[in-house]
Amino acid sequence: MPEPAFAPPHPALALPPRPRLRRGLWALPLLLSLAFVAAVLGWLRASEQAELEEQRAELISDALSLEAQFSARIEREAGLLQQLAQNLERRSQAPPAFAAASEVQQGLHRFWVSITWLDAANRIVAHLPEQTQAPDARIVNTPSVGLSAHLQARLAKGGALVARYSPTEVLRQTVPWWLARKYDVRLVDSFGGVIASTTEGRDLPTLPGRQTQRTSLEPTLADAYLELSARDRVTPWYRSFPMTMVAGFVVLIGAITWMLRRQVRDVSRAERAWRTEAAWRSAMEDSLTVGLRARDLQGRLVYVNRALADMVGWSLDELVGRLPPMPYWPPDSVEQSMQRHERNMAGQAPRGGYETRWHHRDGRRLDVMIFEAPLVDALGRQVGWMGSILDITEPKRLLDRERGQTETMAHHARLTMLGEVAATLAHELNQPLTAISSYSAGVLNSLQRTDAAQPADPLVLRALQRLGEQAAQAGRIVQRIRAFLTRREPQLEPGSLNAIVEGGVALLQRELERRGVQLSLQLDANLPEVVADAVLVEQVVINLVRNASDALAEPDANSDAAALRERRIEVRTLRTPDQRFVRIDVSDNGPGLQGRRIEALCAPFYSTKVEGMGMGLAICRSIVEAHHGALDAHEAPGGGACFSMTLPVAVSVVAVAAEAAEVAAA
Ligand code: ADP
Repeated sequence: MPEPAFAPPHPALALPPRPRLRRGLWALPLLLSLAFVAAVLGWLRASEQAELEEQRAELISDALSLEAQFSARIEREAGLLQQLAQNLERRSQAPPAFAAASEVQQGLHRFWVSITWLDAANRIVAHLPEQTQAPDARIVNTPSVGLSAHLQARLAKGGALVARYSPTEVLRQTVPWWLARKYDVRLVDSFGGVIASTTEGRDLPTLPGRQTQRTSLEPTLADAYLELSARDRVTPWYRSFPMTMVAGFVVLIGAITWMLRRQVRDVSRAERAWRTEAAWRSAMEDSLTVGLRARDLQGRLVYVNRALADMVGWSLDELVGRLPPMPYWPPDSVEQSMQRHERNMAGQAPRGGYETRWHHRDGRRLDVMIFEAPLVDALGRQVGWMGSILDITEPKRLLDRERGQTETMAHHARLTMLGEVAATLAHELNQPLTAISSYSAGVLNSLQRTDAAQPADPLVLRALQRLGEQAAQAGRIVQRIRAFLTRREPQLEPGSLNAIVEGGVALLQRELERRGVQLSLQLDANLPEVVADAVLVEQVVINLVRNASDALAEPDANSDAAALRERRIEVRTLRTPDQRFVRIDVSDNGPGLQGRRIEALCAPFYSTKVEGMGMGLAICRSIVEAHHGALDAHEAPGGGACFSMTLPVAVSVVAVAAEAAEVAAA
């Protein structure tokens, strides 16, 4: 099925289930980000730890290797000093030769600060360098020169060689450049006092995270420790660059979350409003009894409300998307329906709506009234047609029935009138016919009694006899016709006069509306029942109301006043003061009786109307009299005419018995 040109809300799509979770969805990015940040922090800490451990291991290994090198260096110097002592004994050198000895000069050149030759009594035999001799600039410049260590080599013939050396210089020569770049190397005593240092007197910054390894130099150097402090300290995780990034990221996410939350709130508010509106709309749609349909410009149904679906018996899904011919078109007039559809699509649907016939799914006939209007989109372009459909099957059926009833009533009225005409004719013709019959009988007798010598002409006699017979026959025929037409005996039954009045008035309602006549009913709710033929009494009510309506429609002498006058008919029921009768008053504000009395008005064939037959009131009177009642007419108090019909109250058997007993007692 191709997509419709536009998509109005489909009832089935309305109101998706409310996602409660979605309202807190704005927090999800924040939670995910926090989880991510936590993971990054964990990783940072772990990697910092790993780095620290790695650095520590490296530091230990470097410290051990440096300690080994340092010890080896000192031991080598001790070996060289020992060798110098042996050479001195072997050569029995005098102090000047000792001073010139190459081993002594080399030692001083390396890192000996001084060398002292002591004899067996520990007196100085020779001391180099001489006190006057300018000290080695390199050593003097070294602030740690004061802190020195010494090596000693004993002489076999007594005495010893003592070489003082600068541990700082030993360090400088022992520590390779790459190690000096990596670490600050110091020699410290057990109290932390610095003996020698590669940082040349600079204070070591006591920064956190800086690793230090202290290794004892025993036995090479008593009470001395080699201390290595890593220059590159491991940056704490919370100060690392990724941490800065993470912090920025958290701030960013916080800001985004705040904006997102605001957005979600706005959306939620809009959604709430939309839901309320949708609920209202759907409730309104469901409560509608008018069918609604929207069609695109090709005539495809794009929207159908529930009322229409129920009206035609097809489901919403079956209808939406359908192109003509529609399933609810009567099968026997599809062509006609198609022509009408094309007319509507061309925009020529009658503005005031049009009536047509549809077909319910179960085969029932549907009479509908359709109003078409253009359907426009938000930009004002026409995108289809919107139709509202009224199911007028029932009103139409009622109208047909009412029309039938009115016709039947008119037929009955005509028959009654004919009967009445016949009765009147019979009554009027009876006398002349009887007279004809009597006269002919008299003439016949007279002629038969005449002289036997001159008998009457038998032909004349025969003719006279025939005349009498024909007159009698005519009278009988008239009587029979009357009997035939009025043979319906009144069906007397106890009943409510109010109900009869309401029934009669209801039949005239439409006619009165059309004529612009206002009818008011004032019915006594406590009216006792009457014994009457409801159909006949109803006919009297109808006749009186219709006469009043005719009188109101009559052109008045003062036509302007008549035009302005409000046309009113009032029908009242009440009980007469003596309680024995009930009365119906039909009054109007028409021209009134103008001095005419009821006898004149009820005279057969009396009418002032152009098309009037003048039998209505005559019939009314005979009906009322048949019920032992009376018909009267007089001028209404506010102008106009008032016709009153009184009928006896239905007397119960008990009441009659009580009355009889009362009479007997009197
Ligand atoms: P029709 O209605 O055929 O004229 P009716 O016997 O019903 O015959 O009425 C007789 C006449 O009585 C009417 O033509 C009219 O002149 C007069 N009449 C009846 N009702 C009224 C009324 N409400 N007001 C004035 N005149 C009336």
